[in-house]
Amino acid sequence: MAKLLIAEDERSINDLIKKNLRLVGHDCDQCFDGETALQAASSGGYDLIILDVMLPALSGFDIIRSLDGVPVIFVTAKSALGDRLKGLRLGADDYIVKPFEILELVARVESVLRRVGREHKTFCIDDVKIDFDSRRVFRGGEEVVLKPKEFSLLEALVRNRNLALSREKLLSIVWEYDYEGDTRTVDVHIQQLRRKLGLGDRIKTVYKLGYRLEI
Ligand code: CA
Repeated sequence: MAKLLIAEDERSINDLIKKNLRLVGHDCDQCFDGETALQAASSGGYDLIILDVMLPALSGFDIIRSLDGVPVIFVTAKSALGDRLKGLRLGADDYIVKPFEILELVARVESVLRRVGREHKTFCIDDVKIDFDSRRVFRGGEEVVLKPKEFSLLEALVRNRNLALSREKLLSIVWEYDYEGDTRTVDVHIQQLRRKLGLGDRIKTVYKLGYRLEI
């Protein structure tokens, strides 16, 4: 999907971000200090830069001042309001504070890519083609009619593909509320997606947790 640069000097965090963004299909390069990050970012070719504020040699704030147009998400331990405002004033598209949930980061990356129009508008799995703009789905060229919540659930699975999503998480993404208890709603909709789209082998049940779309 998109080509991303991750500039973060803490290797374990950088690796964690890379691993998860690769799982959802992005191509990621890594930098561990400010100078290298600026060189790489200036060379162009990136759809989005994930930029730590506190980097050796040059700070993320210095780097973003030298960049032109490429979307940036700041990732930093600095949670002070002043830093957030500074980051956004300098043109960052979003700001995420460590420690963060990886699903949160993935969601923000997808959201920025969507906003700047750098994400794919269709996605194919086997003989299934999903068009996110028109919210229509085709199987073997024939349209399959999905209910709105079924489509939203499919979209959540695709955008977080290869990541395990709990039933509660899916409820909060698709139904947009925290749902006490009855997570069977998710199970019923998952069964419909598997049946209608022939994705029984792709939508895996994750024991005691929820579901994962395997690509
Ligand atoms: Ca740092």
